[in-house]
Amino acid sequence: MSLKLDGKKLSLEIEERLYNYISSNKKIAKRSPGLAVVRIGEDPASGVYVNNKEKACSRIGIKSFIFHLNDSAEQEEVEELIIKLNSDKDIDGILLQLPIPKKFDEQKLISNINPSKDVDGLNEINIGKLVKNEPAMRSCTPAGIINLLRSQNITIEGKKIVVIGRSLLVGKPLSLMLLNLNGTVTMTHSKTLNLNKVCKEADILIAAAGKPNLVDSSFVKEGAVIIDVGIHRLKSSEENLTRLCGDVLLEDVISKVFAYTPVPGGVGPMTVTMLLVNTIFSWKKQFGLSSTLKDLLP
Ligand code: NAD
Repeated sequence: MSLKLDGKKLSLEIEERLYNYISSNKKIAKRSPGLAVVRIGEDPASGVYVNNKEKACSRIGIKSFIFHLNDSAEQEEVEELIIKLNSDKDIDGILLQLPIPKKFDEQKLISNINPSKDVDGLNEINIGKLVKNEPAMRSCTPAGIINLLRSQNITIEGKKIVVIGRSLLVGKPLSLMLLNLNGTVTMTHSKTLNLNKVCKEADILIAAAGKPNLVDSSFVKEGAVIIDVGIHRLKSSEENLTRLCGDVLLEDVISKVFAYTPVPGGVGPMTVTMLLVNTIFSWKKQFGLSSTLKDLLP
C-alpha cells in the first residue's frame, strides 16, 4: 500500500513544537511574535487563506495584524504601509497575500519588504541567497514540501527529481532548494516536450503546474514519490457542489507510487506552517533566542 504524506498531521505536530517554543521564550522576548498580512481586494480564495493564517497564528501564540485594503488603494499607499511595517518593532514578518489586482506592481511591493521580515521568501535578496545556497528566509510552499519528505526519511540527495512548473512562487525556489540538498533536479514547464516521458524518469515527481489532473499514470515511474502542489475547486456533477482536486489524477497513479500527498491535506497545511516557522525565526533572531527548531529549515 502507498504511503500517504499527511501534511495536516505533520503541521499539527510542528504547531505543537512552535507553541511550546513561543511559550518558553516569551518571557525573554517580552512580547509575542507578530505577523502582518496585507490583503488587497476581494479575491475570495485569498479571504479563505488569510483566515486560515490568522487562525493558525492564534493557535500557537503569534499575534496577527491584518491590513485589508480595497481595490481602489494606490500603489504608493501600499508601499507606505509596507515601509511602516518594516520599522514596526512588534512585527517580525510581513506577508503580501497574492494574487493582488493587476494594476499593482507586485514585484515592487515585494521588493519593499525588509528581507529579514519577508516571511514568504520572495524578496530578491532572499531569492539571491537561495541561489547562492546561503541561509535566508525560504519560501513557504517549497520549504513545507521538504519537511514533508524529511518527515518520512525520504532521501533527496542523489535522487532524480522532476518539478513541473517554474513559477517564482513554487517551481523555481523549490528546484533550487532541492538542488542545494544535492538532488538531481529537472525543472519542466508548459513548453517542455514529451513531459510525461521526462516525468517518468523521476524518483520524486512534484506537480506545480496549476492544471487539474494533468499527471496520470503515464507520468509516473513504479515506486516513485509524488507530491501534488496544485489545488483546484471543480464543480461536481451535483448542482451547487464543488470538490477540491490537485494536478495529479490520484486514483490513476496511487497503485504505482511509493508515497503521495493528498489534496486537500498534503502540501497546503505545510505552507501555512512554514509561514509560522519563518515568523518565529525572525522573532528569535531579533531577541537572540536559542534555536531548537533548526531542523525545520530546508
Ligand atoms: P503559476 O501559474 O504561476 O505557474 C504554473 C507553472 O506551471 C508555470 O511555470 C507553467 O509554465 C507551468 N505549466 C502550466 N501548464 C503546464 C503544463 N500543461 N505542463 C507543464 N507545465 C505547465 O502557478 P503557481 O503559483 O506556481 O501554482 C501552481 C499550483 O499550485 C496552482 O494550482 C496553485 O493554486 C497551487 N499552489 C498551492 C499552494 C499550496 O500551498 N498548496 C501554494 C502555492 C500554489
